[in-house]
Amino acid sequence: MLIKLKSESEKDKRHLRSYLEKKSRNFKIKFAFSCAEAIFTDKTEAASLAPKLEALDFVEEIYLSIEENVPFLISLKSGGKKGFLIVAGPCAVENEETYIKTVKILRKWGIVYIRGALYKPRRSPHTFQGLKELGVPLVEKARKRYGGEFVTEILSENDIKKMSRVFDVFQVGARNMRNYSLLRSLGKTGKKIILKRARGASLDEWLMSAEYLVKEGARDIVLCERGDAGPGAKDSGINFNIAMKAGNISGLPVIVDVTHSSGGPEYSFRSALATKAAGLGGFMIETHISPKDAYVDGKYALPLKKFRDLIKTLDV
Ligand code: PEP
Ligand code: MN
Repeated sequence: MLIKLKSESEKDKRHLRSYLEKKSRNFKIKFAFSCAEAIFTDKTEAASLAPKLEALDFVEEIYLSIEENVPFLISLKSGGKKGFLIVAGPCAVENEETYIKTVKILRKWGIVYIRGALYKPRRSPHTFQGLKELGVPLVEKARKRYGGEFVTEILSENDIKKMSRVFDVFQVGARNMRNYSLLRSLGKTGKKIILKRARGASLDEWLMSAEYLVKEGARDIVLCERGDAGPGAKDSGINFNIAMKAGNISGLPVIVDVTHSSGGPEYSFRSALATKAAGLGGFMIETHISPKDAYVDGKYALPLKKFRDLIKTLDV
């Protein structure tokens, strides 16, 4: 059973708990924002308690079945304008020279969210998989010198602790949107989380993954549309419709990964302009000081100079 309270008041939560302690022999309760999930060992208790709970003056609504909705996400009500978010940087942190230089330039141009992953999910296990822990000192150095908010993808729960020290934002990649155990662990970190839509995932599935994060306590979530293609199709495409709807339902900022969804720097440039026109929350883009030398995704990266043209054109 899900009990939606009228506010997040701790006093009301205590009242609810003691009320249930008097009425039920065996139950578990968990709070997230203004919601409480109560699980009763004896299922009939839930049904008989529902009308009584609904009559309490601090209770807004009761949902007996919480299978197919996203109450925690909605109760977060994070709506409101948050500005236009730009997440930019190389696909991966590669080496000290290019990384530190790139961060310096991006920060000078006013970019706050710096991407550059230490873990890369690659199709082939023989390709560069990211610097992993070896990259931590580079990120620390960049952060100390230039500030900003640093973003890495996280592939495994085992890496969360050691990466928490140096990264401000954890990215759930398209491949892991359905990794519920990873979502649960990331939800507990208190970090900002960028949640990509998996290839082929429906709006509901995407939001439900966000619900996993919120249920564990995450408050700061950004949804990221990364595009997908039909079966057998080579070219990916941005689903603006799903992105706009996700924003409307959840109130969360929705950005578009204009690099992995496009197919080259010319298209990522134009797609970035389109995110603004569509009234979305911003975009994520891969940019590189010298795309031809990039370890990963060089052919998709927008050269840094062109990235500067983009932010000038956008005037954000
Ligand atoms: C990425 O952003 O570096 C990435 C791997 O993207 P995706 O999960 O969308 O493939
Ligand atoms: Mn990439």
